[in-house]
Amino acid sequence: MELDVRILLPGFPAIRDGVGPTSLVAEIDSFAGRVALRFGFYNGIGIYYIDAPHLYDRPNNPYHDQYNMAYGDNHIRFGVLGWVGSELLYGVDPLWNADILHAHDWHAGLACAYLAAKTGRHVTNSVFTIHNLAYQGCFSPYHMNDLWLPAELYSVYGVECYGQISFLKAGIYFAGHVTTVSPTYAQEIVNTDLGLGFQGLLADRMHYERFSGILNGLDEAVWDPKTDKKITTNYNARNLKNKLLNKGEFQHAARLQVNPDKPLFGVISRLVYQKGLDIVLDSLTYLLDYGAQFVLLGSGDPVLEHQFTEFVNYHQRQYAGQIVLFYGYNEEMAHQIMAAADVLLVPSRFEPCGLTQMAALHYGTLPLVHATGGLTDTVVNTTIENIKDKTATGFVFYDMTREGFRGTVDWAMEQWKNRKLWRTLQQRGMQQDFSWQKSARQYQKIYETLLK
Ligand code: ADP
Repeated sequence: MELDVRILLPGFPAIRDGVGPTSLVAEIDSFAGRVALRFGFYNGIGIYYIDAPHLYDRPNNPYHDQYNMAYGDNHIRFGVLGWVGSELLYGVDPLWNADILHAHDWHAGLACAYLAAKTGRHVTNSVFTIHNLAYQGCFSPYHMNDLWLPAELYSVYGVECYGQISFLKAGIYFAGHVTTVSPTYAQEIVNTDLGLGFQGLLADRMHYERFSGILNGLDEAVWDPKTDKKITTNYNARNLKNKLLNKGEFQHAARLQVNPDKPLFGVISRLVYQKGLDIVLDSLTYLLDYGAQFVLLGSGDPVLEHQFTEFVNYHQRQYAGQIVLFYGYNEEMAHQIMAAADVLLVPSRFEPCGLTQMAALHYGTLPLVHATGGLTDTVVNTTIENIKDKTATGFVFYDMTREGFRGTVDWAMEQWKNRKLWRTLQQRGMQQDFSWQKSARQYQKIYETLLK
């Protein structure tokens, strides 16, 4: 079966600019005021966006102001995304009607509730994907009316979640099928505290085969060391010497000691508790005392930023030329670090899928990860058995403790001495298939089942 997929997005300025010429599909009067639905193409894919400057034309971040405060009308801004999404199955575009709606994360979760309200059925032609259960889109129940949600949906059998409306719960409860972005995370949020109170509901859905984990793919048009225009020198698995050129160039530019023999550890991450970077900070002296180098690129929690900065200020002399920090979101630098580093640290407390470790594998940068979620599904630990079996691709620690982390750093440093093995691990990682094709086939199966 061939699929005609179209994407609906809020009309953030960058999206409006990126889509280019569009046509007006409809003007819609809704609880969010009058909004326009426009349609255009991006990379050959049909894109609808909601043109509503009063909702989306805000500087900085899509979700919050410069003080990190969520916008007070986020329920409206994302509620209307769900509303318009549901309307795409109900003729809002006279030229195209969707058979299936696939909503992602809390931002789009209400779409599934609106569909349920419109059809009067609980099982809807919708799929809901959880990218991170920790972000639940919770708002005061007083907003039921403001969002045109029928009062009876405010129930444990509906959008209610511990005394609030949860957009995420709406998606989980009303979608015909729920997915999350890796098989291990799917098990974890059913069976452990990572379910954050949703364990029961998700277990029930899993029991009826209406909840499953499908691993995300990696956009290989963006993350490919053979063609990446953001890095100094392109390379492939047979030409790893060119990776070293990237390392040298980066060391020079970042004022690290230029030396191919010093292992360079990298972090590219949002700075939030989930990512476990406090455990790295706690072991930085341990790592640097090996003579290793460390680069961090991140943005987020100002307290964590401050702590890393303080570390550098305090140890400037001791670790001169060994550590460098970059704050902010910088894609070009993310690619350069990915190409330059020898090890990428991903010590997440939980990780629904994770993209950086997959990119690292593609770039011959060995991931050192905590055994959780998608990290478990994508990185094979370098144990004696896995070396023999020819499956090892990185380093995995199992206890989210100082000892757990340091033990694996020790093990990685031990392997660093064996350059032949290291190269084998790099090459194997670079050959892993993380293309979207596999995942796409699994999603297609779900759509077909729902349409039966
Ligand atoms: P999450 O979605 O939880 O942030 P992922 O690993 O799934 O984590 O995806 C993060 C993506 O964002 C990766 O592609 C990574 O390279 C990129 N990224 C994270 N922080 C930065 C940053 N400061 N600058 C540039 N890119 C970043």
